[in-house]
Amino acid sequence: MEQERNLPIIRSIGDLRNRVSAWRRAGARIALVPTMGALHQGHLSLIAIARRRADKVITSLFINPAQFGPSEDYAAYPRDEEGDRRKLAQAGTDLLYAPDVASMYPPGFSTRIEVGGVSQGLCGASRPHHFAGVATVVAKLFLQSQPDVAVFGEKDYQQLLVIRRLAADLDFPIEIIGAPIVREADGLAMSSRNAYLSASERAVAPQIHLTLREMVRELATGRTVEEAVRTGRARLESAGFAVDYLEARHAETLAPLVGVLPRNAPARIFVAATLGRTRLIDNMSLTNPDVD
Ligand code: AMP
Repeated sequence: MEQERNLPIIRSIGDLRNRVSAWRRAGARIALVPTMGALHQGHLSLIAIARRRADKVITSLFINPAQFGPSEDYAAYPRDEEGDRRKLAQAGTDLLYAPDVASMYPPGFSTRIEVGGVSQGLCGASRPHHFAGVATVVAKLFLQSQPDVAVFGEKDYQQLLVIRRLAADLDFPIEIIGAPIVREADGLAMSSRNAYLSASERAVAPQIHLTLREMVRELATGRTVEEAVRTGRARLESAGFAVDYLEARHAETLAPLVGVLPRNAPARIFVAATLGRTRLIDNMSLTNPDVD
């Protein structure tokens, strides 16, 4: 309780800079974990990793309007700052940085960072401005908090690659760490958006994970990507999903993969599918599926 009350919330860039400068003067290594709140065990696993890599952990909470399309769920996105603050205090975050929209995007704001290559295809195809919105806000969060390391989940694997590219291309002196996907007991990848699912949709949702596992098994026995995708898509559609994409891609370049994949190919399967009104994404490594 005591610790909970003491978890500082900072809302202005100036206050954040003062706090970070003091930590830096004391020689502390600083980690940043960017989130949009409605925190679950997936987020908290990132904080645990950050704690192992740094002396001080900043968690940011900012629901970034620039990464939502006009018909997407920005207004409805779950918000629970008090609940998040409690979870963060227990997880050992040192500081909650929760700026408001007006201080992140003051009047006249006109800059957008577009990362090429890995932003294309998958979510980049169905959500055209999404990764520019992500790259821009993450660049701002990096410059505001000046961390030594930043932790991002493989749940949003394409986003992780976009951030790695951004950091390399713009010379951010920040180590980008990818964290494994945390799942519910039945395999559903944890997500703030799971709260949108009705009870019957929630019962069907683990089919995404089961389908990925089956596809990984099939690809390992020498079936082609095309065959595995056909079977996987049919399975998801008969469970009631509208499939946005289901693809095998290179794990680092995201180049599309076809045919029979060599053993130990650095490949991942990526899926986005909508159940009712909820869009879910997931992915799985071919070489290391148990981690996912
Ligand atoms: P979000 O709040 O959805 O923007 O996510 C914030 C960070 O948490 C991102 O780096 C996500 O990839 C990561 N994350 C979200 N869900 C999970 C999960 N189930 N496992 C691991 N990381 C996650």
